[in-house]
Parts: sequence; C-alpha cells; structure tokens
Amino acid sequence: MSDCLFCKIAAKTIPAKLVHEDDQVVAFDDINPQAPVHTLVIPRRHVASMAELNEADAGLLGHLLLVGNQVAKQKGIAEGGYRLVVNTGRNGGQTVFHLHLHLLGGRPMHWPPG
Ligand code: 5GP
Ligand code: ZN
Repeated sequence: MSDCLFCKIAAKTIPAKLVHEDDQVVAFDDINPQAPVHTLVIPRRHVASMAELNEADAGLLGHLLLVGNQVAKQKGIAEGGYRLVVNTGRNGGQTVFHLHLHLLGGRPMHWPPG
C-alpha cells in the first residue's frame, strides 16, 4: 500500500533499524521504545490489523510470533522473559494501521497494562 508507513519501511524506502527480514516478515526497532528492547515484527503484505486475519492467515500469524521469539533470543531477553503485544483497533490502542507485533523486554513488565 503506497501511503502506508510500515509498507515503506518493509520496502526500505523509509529507513529503520532492521533486525530480521525474510520472505514473509520484517522486524525493526521501534522509533519510540517503551522498554530497553522494543522491536516491531510486521508482515511484508499490507494487512491493516489483526481483525482482518482469518484461518487462511494462520501460517503467517504463527511465523510472526515465532520471529518475535527468535528476535527475543537474538537480543538476549528470552531467558529473562518478554512480552508480545498486538494492539488492535482504536480501543486496542493501535495507531499504525499495518499489522505489527510488539516485542518488549529488558525490564519487568507490569500487569494489567494501561
Ligand atoms: P501501535 O500503537 O499502532 O500498536 O504501535 C505503533 C508503533 O509504531 C509505536 O510504538 C510507534 O512508536 C512506532 N512507530 C511509529 N512510527 C514509526 C517509524 O517511523 N519508525 C519506527 N521504527 N517505528 C515507528
Ligand atoms: Zn502497510
């Protein structure tokens, strides 16, 4: 999608600190980190939000989560623990409407979240 920020990051027309890329997904560090590690994992394909996915996307979704795990290992936070978050829609706190998985870690997380 031509005017989507995260599509542009995936296409490398807007710079980002990429930490992983493969044929299905791209991972890059968040520009406004909320924890010592804050990385976003996105599908290359434009999907506006989690709410658009269905059974046909189970493979993509599984891969997104597993890349989250892999980046957590790569960043050295897997053992201490981390949080994977998908904000969905307005009440979910989503601000960028290209599906993304937040990987947060490197400090204790609080519960319930705000
Ligand atoms: P959301 O609120 O939609 O779940 O998360 C959007 C995330 O994208 C936020 O954490 C925000 O800091 C991050 N973000 C917004 N614009 C950019 C950008 O241009 N580059 C990067 N790396 N992250 C961004
Ligand atoms: Zn997009």
